[in-house]
Amino acid sequence: MPLSHRRSHLLQEKAEAVFPGGVNSPVRAFRSVGGEPPFLTHAEGAWLYDEDGNRYLDLFGSWGPMILGHAFPSVVEAIRDAAGRSASFGASTAAEASLAALVQKCFPSVEKLRFVSSGTEACMSAIRLARGFTGGDFIIKFEGCYHGHSDAMLVKAGSGVATLGIPGSAGVPAETVMHTLALPFNDLDAVRAAFAARPDQIACVILEPIVGNAGTIPPAPGYLEGLREITRQHGALLILDEVMTGFRVTLGGAQRLYNIQPDLTTLGKIIGGGLPCGAFGGRAEIMNHLAPLGPVYQAGTLSGNPLAMAAGIATLEHLIANEKAIYPQINQTTAEIAEGVATIAREAGVTLTTNQVGSMFTWFFTNTPVTDFATAATSDTAAFGRFHRAMLEAGVWLPPSQFEAAFVSAAHTPQDVAFVLNAARTALGHD
Ligand SMILES: *Cc1c(COP(=O)(O)O)cnc(C)c1O
Repeated sequence: MPLSHRRSHLLQEKAEAVFPGGVNSPVRAFRSVGGEPPFLTHAEGAWLYDEDGNRYLDLFGSWGPMILGHAFPSVVEAIRDAAGRSASFGASTAAEASLAALVQKCFPSVEKLRFVSSGTEACMSAIRLARGFTGGDFIIKFEGCYHGHSDAMLVKAGSGVATLGIPGSAGVPAETVMHTLALPFNDLDAVRAAFAARPDQIACVILEPIVGNAGTIPPAPGYLEGLREITRQHGALLILDEVMTGFRVTLGGAQRLYNIQPDLTTLGKIIGGGLPCGAFGGRAEIMNHLAPLGPVYQAGTLSGNPLAMAAGIATLEHLIANEKAIYPQINQTTAEIAEGVATIAREAGVTLTTNQVGSMFTWFFTNTPVTDFATAATSDTAAFGRFHRAMLEAGVWLPPSQFEAAFVSAAHTPQDVAFVLNAARTALGHD
């Protein structure tokens, strides 16, 4: 008996009348994998529940934030408690300093920071600050990296931009992106050439230290060190966008995993425990260029929102207190799922390249090693779409695009691993 999606289908029809594509963020529409997105009612731990009474094992974690699993008791309690004291003041609270102290404990490179309400804002603000601090106009980003949807960052971006196969976005004037240099990831020579062509004009290099928004792509050995050295030589800032990798691949993100000291870091996703929150921070000397101390303007009505601070504090407190148990466990669970399905695929004669770093991973439907966006794009996205639909039917919720990372949470059990492998046997058997 195929799963019923009757109620979700009716809700989707209604949604399409009000929201473009029926959604409030494009990849949620399932356009690149086919089928219609189930509408969810609630979730607990590693399981999602939809309007038609179906349940799914969650391998996308709300795109990353839900590292503790859904409705984690201390997070729910903290949000309830904060809500009872008012959802917003627009004035300072002690909770902001408490969350900042936890962030600094995890990220020693963050001497000063600002809270914002999304990863997009964090990256947009960090870039403005880098330009204001260095006086350079040009920025270097990498193909397939996603840094939110601000105009200058939508050049050869990952995530939905890659999913929908568009080079950038309509509505962005050429003048707005003429200072954005998009280079291939994992290619230091391209970066050296860009600096040689524009000495003293490049404000910063921004990257996902482990790409997640083109699917998971780790940095080649020496790549991050090389970027650190080149940026230092040229007086440009190195911005690590750890919106996805922060508190994910280690408590201290990719910068701890690879021992890289950036000038600025952007954070989001896990930092808000599921509520809208982001942050950017780094060297105090740079951060002091922000208003009201300096000339670089940045602001936000809901920045440091008390509910987001409460959820973030509860999440980070739990991660910090249980670091030694949680990270090895989620990494191990992820390896069992990622490699387990890779083995099943091999036995079924299905071509897969599996990339995993910590608890983020991707199955690319290609036999080419995936080291940058060009190689990620060799994936058979139609085959990924068939796999996605079959896994959903078997009760496993994957990210609905080849160019998005999958995630495992601390709530995933050994039985859940077995559940995924069984689903994959069914899904790949039908290929
Ligand atoms: C999700 C993400 C963003 C954007 O964050 P939003 O909260 O969706 O605006 C930026 N950078 C990276 C690396 C991300 O994964």
